[in-house]
Amino acid sequence: TKYVYDFAEGNKDLKDLLGGKGANLAEMVRLGLPVPPGFTITTEACREYLAAGRPPDELAAQVDAHLAALEATMGRRLGEPADPLLVSVRSGAKFSMPGMMETVLNVGLTDASVHGLAARSGNERFAWDSYRRLIQMFGKTVCDVPGEAFEHAMDRVKGERADVDLTTEELRGLVGEFKAIFAEHTGRDFPQDPREQMDLATNAVFDSWNAERAVLYRRQERIPADLGTAVNIVAMVFGNLGPDSGTGVAFTRDPATGARGVYGDYLANAQGEDVVAGIRNTVPLQELEQLDPKSFAELMAIMATLEGHYRDLCDIEFTIEAGRLWMLQTRVGKRTAAAAFIIASQLVDEGMIDLDEALRRQSGARLAQLMFPTFDDKDVGEPLAKGIAASPGAAVGRAVFDSARAVEEAAKGEKVILVRRETNPDDLPGMIAAQGILTSRGGKTSHAAVVARGMGKTCVCGADALEVDTAGKQVTVNGTTVREGDLISIDGTSGAIFLGEVPVQPSPVVRYFDGDLAPDADPLVAAVHRLLTRADERRRLGVRTNADTGEDAARARRFGAQGIGLCRTEHMFLGERRAMVERLILADGPDEQQHALDALLPLQRDDFAEIFRAMDGLPVTIRLIDPPLHEFLPPLEELAVAVATAETPDPHQEALLAAVRRMHEQNPMLGLRGVRLGLVIPGLFGMQVRAIAQAAAKVRGEGGDPRPEIMVPLVGAVQELEAVRADAERILAEEGTAGTPIGTMIEVPRAALTAGQIAEAADFFSFGTNDLTQMGWGFSRDDVEGSFFSRYLELGVFGVSPFETLDRDGIGRLVRIAVQEGRQARPDLKIGVCGEHGGDPESVRFFDEAGLDYVSCSPFRVPVARLEAGRAAL
Ligand code: PEP
Ligand code: MG
Repeated sequence: TKYVYDFAEGNKDLKDLLGGKGANLAEMVRLGLPVPPGFTITTEACREYLAAGRPPDELAAQVDAHLAALEATMGRRLGEPADPLLVSVRSGAKFSMPGMMETVLNVGLTDASVHGLAARSGNERFAWDSYRRLIQMFGKTVCDVPGEAFEHAMDRVKGERADVDLTTEELRGLVGEFKAIFAEHTGRDFPQDPREQMDLATNAVFDSWNAERAVLYRRQERIPADLGTAVNIVAMVFGNLGPDSGTGVAFTRDPATGARGVYGDYLANAQGEDVVAGIRNTVPLQELEQLDPKSFAELMAIMATLEGHYRDLCDIEFTIEAGRLWMLQTRVGKRTAAAAFIIASQLVDEGMIDLDEALRRQSGARLAQLMFPTFDDKDVGEPLAKGIAASPGAAVGRAVFDSARAVEEAAKGEKVILVRRETNPDDLPGMIAAQGILTSRGGKTSHAAVVARGMGKTCVCGADALEVDTAGKQVTVNGTTVREGDLISIDGTSGAIFLGEVPVQPSPVVRYFDGDLAPDADPLVAAVHRLLTRADERRRLGVRTNADTGEDAARARRFGAQGIGLCRTEHMFLGERRAMVERLILADGPDEQQHALDALLPLQRDDFAEIFRAMDGLPVTIRLIDPPLHEFLPPLEELAVAVATAETPDPHQEALLAAVRRMHEQNPMLGLRGVRLGLVIPGLFGMQVRAIAQAAAKVRGEGGDPRPEIMVPLVGAVQELEAVRADAERILAEEGTAGTPIGTMIEVPRAALTAGQIAEAADFFSFGTNDLTQMGWGFSRDDVEGSFFSRYLELGVFGVSPFETLDRDGIGRLVRIAVQEGRQARPDLKIGVCGEHGGDPESVRFFDEAGLDYVSCSPFRVPVARLEAGRAAL
């Protein structure tokens, strides 16, 4: 097996094998860009290492050969005392996991070669600075020496000065101290064999794939757990050689807005990790133009080349070594949801990509983010301070100052803002738990910013007016002190930080959907309009909505719904109508029962008429009442107590209690509900069918075009549907609306498995994937999320809740069977889905594949489903 690839052998399409960093380094070599020579150890080697607990047998010999070639190219040998070749050992997985995994720089420095480096570079300070960095980084990442041990030692020597002010002598002394710290924590001396350093660092990078924070990040980002990481061994170039050296990161466009320009951070006389860790304050990349015009111009030209080549926004890492520019990394850059739409649309205008490609690059999840409200900060006065708008959104929560606290409070249901000086990968759990992240240090490329953007979480960073006192759990801003638990609001779009809770307003994208903003109102709205229009042209799936009021129906229609896929009628029996349902349940004999139903009929008729008007000309699927009747009655215990403690006996209450007792079920979800209820309580479904027919007649009389469809819930056997159907058809005929389609939910596994039979009695199917998931897995949709699901996610039983994204293998199989057998029995059978999954981007793609006719989802998910259905059809 070939485990090692020279940079010259790879290309950008080999990310599976070489990881993102390795593949893109290789691509830059192919483009003729200045990349330091090196090679990549494959993800396959990592997977075998992790499985066996040791590197594959052939690896060492292959690394020998590539190292020898690298040494020949460089004219120096790894760690050779007189003139050492130094290398960096860098992780690089297929999907970027910012700061999650390990990197070790300056590998090859030893007590002997540090002198050689000093002599050859003519810069003794630089040599000792590099050596102390190696011991520190190697100690931390390879041997788990606590980072603070080194940092405290360094702080003691540094005092109030910056690290660039440390003298050669001080650095030499620090190297001695660092070696002692290393020996104390590891029980061995710092390794003096350069090749051993390199191999240990390689294994540490492999191991970091399974570091806790990496596991957590992958779960959050839904990155598969079994990919492994590649390792890049790269000849070192030095940004810490002096003032004419430095290191930086840049974007080819603004990752927050998509605007063209020069975006990045630069740090003179520093090595890469200083920038991303936000240790020293960087300067804006524009300033490089003054510091080093030649390198700046070259960098700009390279960035243009990269954008043209990747046809997308790229981010890069570079180092300038004594006036010479080197590219250390590039990749298609992470960006905010808004920028993703705007940039794609710009690239279409610039002729770089076509509209379908622009659509392919979007995601329903991102569009959903853009529909969140923003702050309405016109009237809230001056912000407390302003930071850098690093990741958009409006977040309100209580200030907390460490990750563990954030997790604790969020678990209690509290909304929190994580406030830190800067974040590091150990803060990840808190960042996930928080509504937003606020830091006092670091730029748009700091850890906090990059990670927050990746997660779509609101972030304001680099707010340097903030004096964050982590130990004291408070932050002081221009004389105001905010303590743990105080409410703050942060605006990731403007960078503003407010004390207290700022009210929110609908997002511009929602205002556009609502018709309050024109499609050309701003670049974001224009881009969303353009790409959704394309999605509508492309998609095969229809998109309907789940709505049970005229108002929701009207809104969903503005959002692009092509009808109602599920009108739940049970919500219509709440409020003051609850008493009428009670009367129905308590009815003594058929007459009283009919009386109660007669009272409900006109109310239902008006409900339906209102919805038909809002959805004029479009199908409206009305589901007959579904939940167990006792859901309309007071809870048993409460009622029992009320009756027992009543001063004077109340016959009504007592009758009610008796009814509640009679109807009590251990497993109401598996009890008397849906079609079972319809077959047991005579007249209930009939009343609803009549109300539907009369409402349709009424609206037609007004000149409207109502298109009702009647849907029966919880059917498991064709006989159930046949019984309901016979009764419904009789009533429809009486009301003069014969021919109204009658169909069924497919939400009981048996219905899916006998779909061929059921189709004989159904004009349409609609998958109720909530119940289908509940009954297919046999776990309660109302209880499990807070119970054992977190353990299941940890164990990888599933990567995401099956109530959120349809379980393709299991429940999806039921869906496929039902589609196939249903259509076999009845080729014109219309099939949709109305469970929550109808608005989940992943699941929408599945339903497209499975051949459904439409998905139905909540109004706010309608644009998401349109977009995703369009992408699915590409
Ligand atoms: C379903 O079960 O998926 C469904 C749509 O019905 P409900 O959520 O009302 O049970
Ligand atoms: Mg259901």
